[in-house]
Amino acid sequence: MKLIIASNNAHKLEEIRAILGGAFEQILSLREAGIAHETVEDGASFAENAAKKAREIAEISGCCALADDSGLCVDALGGAPGIYSARFAGEHGNDAANRRRLLREMENIDDRAAHFTCSMALVRPDGSLTAAEGFVYGKIARAEAGENGFGYDSLFYLPERGCTMAQLPPEEKNAISHRHNALMALLEKLK
Ligand code: IMP
Repeated sequence: MKLIIASNNAHKLEEIRAILGGAFEQILSLREAGIAHETVEDGASFAENAAKKAREIAEISGCCALADDSGLCVDALGGAPGIYSARFAGEHGNDAANRRRLLREMENIDDRAAHFTCSMALVRPDGSLTAAEGFVYGKIARAEAGENGFGYDSLFYLPERGCTMAQLPPEEKNAISHRHNALMALLEKLK
């Protein structure tokens, strides 16, 4: 089966390709498929946004489309930034500014518990949807550490590993991440 990844986020694309390996005959990015399209992410949940992105690309391309909507949920902030993770500091996709805002908001907070959520949606050309979610649990660090990954990885401390997500080599992140867990759950449903 040919699959188009409904995302313009190069980091997500790389991770999804690495995690899926040979599960699909061909995996194309939007650019490789010649599609210039930006979905308006106005859903009320990760799942709604993922389904919307996948549905639009399946419609435009006539192929199967896979979309990832993901983000960081911090317990002490009532689940924020959640679906607004990419634009927590205002400008969409400014990861450094988002991390600075998170550190500021968490300055005087002792409860550091947080998790990443990833919602995956696969929509076929006939419009049918298969969806799954994945999570990874950790704590918000007091300072950034690590150079790998993207987004909030350098602030996401994994107690059982004793390091942040950004200190893990990519293949180790891809073996434990919310994205990995969501894709495994999705593949299980597709079997
Ligand atoms: P989306 O493109 O609307 O799904 O936004 C995802 C945002 O959540 C990204 O811009 C990151 O800030 C954050 N995020 C999602 N997945 C990860 C991850 O694996 N590591 C770090 N941050 C992530």
